[in-house]
Amino acid sequence: MFMYKHRQGQKFDAIDLDPYGCPSIFLDSAVQAITDGGLLLVTATDMAVLAGNSPETCYAKYGSISLRIKCCHEMAIRILLQCIEAHANRYSRYIVPLLSISADFYIRVFVRVYSGAQKCKFSTSKLSNVYHCTGCDSFVLQPLGILRNQENFKNIKFCLPAAPATSQKCEHCGGTQHMGGPLWSAPLHSIDFVQRLQENLTNELGTFRRIGGILQLITEELSDVPLYYTLEKLSGTIHVETPPMLSVRSAILNAGYRVSYTHMNKTSIKTDAPANVVWDIMRSWVEDHPVSTKRLINDSVAGKILAIKSTTKYSFNLHPLANPESKKFGMLRFQANPQPHWGPGTRSTVMVGEAKISKSKRNQGKRKREHSEELQTNEPC
Ligand SMILES: [Zn+2]
Repeated sequence: MFMYKHRQGQKFDAIDLDPYGCPSIFLDSAVQAITDGGLLLVTATDMAVLAGNSPETCYAKYGSISLRIKCCHEMAIRILLQCIEAHANRYSRYIVPLLSISADFYIRVFVRVYSGAQKCKFSTSKLSNVYHCTGCDSFVLQPLGILRNQENFKNIKFCLPAAPATSQKCEHCGGTQHMGGPLWSAPLHSIDFVQRLQENLTNELGTFRRIGGILQLITEELSDVPLYYTLEKLSGTIHVETPPMLSVRSAILNAGYRVSYTHMNKTSIKTDAPANVVWDIMRSWVEDHPVSTKRLINDSVAGKILAIKSTTKYSFNLHPLANPESKKFGMLRFQANPQPHWGPGTRSTVMVGEAKISKSKRNQGKRKREHSEELQTNEPC
C-alpha cells in the first residue's frame, strides 16, 4: 500500500523487496513506484517452487512453468526476471538486469527499471520457452519473438519465430519432452556494473573473499548462453566414469566453441556448442573409457545415446583457455557449507517443560489421543 501511494508524484530511486518466500505480490506496486532508471532489488526464497517441484504453483505465482532440470538455479533466476519484466511491461516500462545471483538457498536480482513503450516491444525477443528432455536432460530454447534488421535500429522488424524448435521426441535419446517457461533469455548481468563493483570492493567486508570470487566467476560466464549442463549429469546419464572437468572444457574449446562455468554450480558447463556436439564429445570419451555392457540395455537412455556413432574425433588435450582466471588465481569460487547439514532454519519447536520437543513428535498420534479421550469422557460412570 505504501508503494501504491507513491505511484504518482514522488517516486523511489531504489526499492529492495526481500520478503519471506515469493515476492510477486509486491512487484505490481514496486514497478510503478520506482523512478525512471531506478534500482529494484528482489529476493526470492521459495526455491522449491522455482526449481520445478510444483510447476502449477510456479505458474500461479510467477506466470511461468518451472521444470525439474539440473540447471534449476539459473532457471529460477530467469523465471523471476521474466516475472518482473511482465509486471513492468503493463505500465510501459522494462527492465535491464545488472546482477543476478543464486546463493545458498535463495536468489537475488538487481535490475534497473526504465520507461518506454517502444522499448517494451523488444520484450518478446528477450523471452523464451524451453523444451526439456526428461531422459537425457538436454534442452532447446524457443524464443517468443525474434528481431530482423538489427543493424539499423529504425528499421528493426519484430517477427515471430518458426515453431516448434524441436521434435516431439528428443533427437538424442528419444525421451519425452516437457515445455517450460517463459524464461528471461537475455543476459543476466551487466558486465560493466559487475566490474565497477569489483573495483569498489573493500576487504572491510566479512564476506570479501566470497563476493570477490562470485563476481569474478560472473565476469567469466557466457552472458549470451542461457542455461547449462552439469558434468555429473552428462556422465551419469550414459553411466561412464566422470571425465575431468578440464578435459571436457578443453574438448569443447578445441572443437571451436566457447565454454564457461556459472557461479551457481561448480560442475556447470555453459557452452554455445549444440547438444549433439556435447553428446558427441561424451561419446568420444566413452571410446577410451568403455561403459560396462551390463548397463547398456537397448531401451535405456544410455543405450540409445551410445548407439549413435560419433561423427567427429574430439581432442581432450589441454586447451590454454580451459582453466579460468578465477581458478588460476585461487579465488574462493564455490563456498562450501560452513557446517554439516547446513540449511535454511530448523523445524519449528515448542518448549514443553524443560525439554525441547519437536512439533512433529508432539503431534504424533494426536487424533487417536483426542478420540480416546472423547470415548473416555462419554463412557457412563
Ligand atoms: Zn533426450
